[in-house]
Amino acid sequence: MFDNIVILTGAGISAESGIPVFRSETGLWEQERVEDVATYDGFVRDKKKVHDFYNKMRLSLADKQPNAAHLALTRLQKEWPKTHAGKVSIVTQNIDNLHEKALSEQVIHMHGELMSILCEKCHASYAFAGESSVDTVCENCNSRGHMRPDIVWFGEMPYFMDEIEQLLSKCSLFMSIGTSGVVYPAAGFSQYARSQGATCIEFNLEQSAVVSNFDWGLYGKASETVPAFVDHLLKTGEALKEPKS
Ligand code: NAD
Ligand code: ZN
Repeated sequence: MFDNIVILTGAGISAESGIPVFRSETGLWEQERVEDVATYDGFVRDKKKVHDFYNKMRLSLADKQPNAAHLALTRLQKEWPKTHAGKVSIVTQNIDNLHEKALSEQVIHMHGELMSILCEKCHASYAFAGESSVDTVCENCNSRGHMRPDIVWFGEMPYFMDEIEQLLSKCSLFMSIGTSGVVYPAAGFSQYARSQGATCIEFNLEQSAVVSNFDWGLYGKASETVPAFVDHLLKTGEALKEPKS
């Protein structure tokens, strides 16, 4: 019987909502080099370019809607605690806001958020929906020229690691959805959860790079596998082993 559940989501859960995954051929990511737009050195080299890159992505979220996978996780988060002695925590590598649009609660954005901005001077971060630039003034300390996207870039420390480790050490079911398993430390969560006794299941189109850390996987579109899994889990308390055809 399961109690606490931790769900790790990656770019694949948002793909069917029209947000390209990291290594697709159509995404914004493919028009720029990762070193230029997703490292601190790249930001220092050309701040305007990096602000513009994330502005474009932030604006593109306006018409994006959560899909059946995001909505199923919200349902699980709401309904699971009613019948089980445990809670459902969502940890996401995504910087989009689709879990929030699906009305999930307390989503842990370990890689930051497009809808937030960070001041390098006073270290405040706050909700932000507009376009940032090298001239943006900090709402907290009023200084100009110190704002950066609130995104954890390659080489930077992800947010909330202590909290996530705590959650992983106390969960009995770990679900990883739409993540390739190549970006650490998130790629190591399954191994850690399993070492703590959790059942670990991955949801992906294909086996991820860390498939051996999982008890089994459900392969297919997240918008189909996740709702079917959640349905079964809420009805029976047990984890579905085969994707429904
Ligand atoms: P990734 O792009 O490396 O991998 C995506 C994974 O999702 C792949 O394994 C792919 O097989 C799978 N996938 C694609 N479509 C799917 C579907 N419909 N159903 C189920 N699985 C599907 O993503 P990642 O592992 O999250 O790592 C990439 C990094 O880039 C993350 O750190 C993230 O911050 C960032 N990123 C975020 C977004 C976003 O916020 N939506 C988008 C692109 C990249
Ligand atoms: Zn400030």
